[in-house]
Amino acid sequence: MAADRRTALVTGAASGIGAAIATRLEADGIDVLAVDLQPAAGGPGTAFKADLTTREGNRAAVDAALERFGRLDVVVANAGFQHVSPIADFPEDRWDALIAILLTSPFLLAKYAWPALAESGSGRFIAVASAHALVASPFKAGYVSAKHGVLGLVKTLALEGAAAGITATALCPGYVRTPLVEAQITAQAAAHGLPADRVLEEIILAPHAVKRLIEPAEVAAMAAFLVGPDGASFTGVAIPMDQGWTAR
Ligand code: NAD
Repeated sequence: MAADRRTALVTGAASGIGAAIATRLEADGIDVLAVDLQPAAGGPGTAFKADLTTREGNRAAVDAALERFGRLDVVVANAGFQHVSPIADFPEDRWDALIAILLTSPFLLAKYAWPALAESGSGRFIAVASAHALVASPFKAGYVSAKHGVLGLVKTLALEGAAAGITATALCPGYVRTPLVEAQITAQAAAHGLPADRVLEEIILAPHAVKRLIEPAEVAAMAAFLVGPDGASFTGVAIPMDQGWTAR
């Protein structure tokens, strides 16, 4: 028998934005399966280890949520990484891995979770996309391509899910203070030949009109809004949260 509490599957939940979303949804009274390649000990949520670049990993994550909670109302496809490289040198295996985690995993999660989301009556699918779902930057061919692709997936899911009360949205943050961005500061320093201490100001924050990193909790607050009843009319859309980046 399905439990009374709503439940969520959050990927990449051991770090950064995913950890903030899992923490916030749990605080809002939602049972969370916190899926990650390297699960965090001690929460948030119930940790589950899976490699989401594989079909088996995505299947196992959805099965685990249903086995543990008996229902699944929310999927947050968030896990990811970045690879920065000029196109002529872009490693083909990194391209494949970026597409697998940023585009194919959201597709597989939606596919496997779809019957449960429909049964929920207020199913929510959220892809943590990026401002890079809307605009490009040099040296990020794999990431930008996958993020543009996941916006197409979200639009399609919104149309298919409408009759069943499932919404699908793409959260599109600018730069957020997480380990992924810290790694990019190092990578961009190499790509642009700049010292790391100048990269945040001159490269990372260059596209932001407001010159500060976004905090993970700010992204989590938007996810919580979308998951709640007031988020019901947002579907099939990108939701920029980008310090004015895409206003240019
Ligand atoms: P992060 O590196 O802090 O966390 C990413 C998590 O994903 C890690 O815990 C990692 O273990 C997990 N992960 C990676 N590969 C996995 C796999 N194969 N299977 C399971 N888990 C895997 O990164 P973050 O900054 O919190 O990014 C989260 C999402 O937000 C990503 O999709 C990223 O593209 C997006 N995003 C980040 C920013 C930013 O500025 N940080 C901006 C826009 C969008």
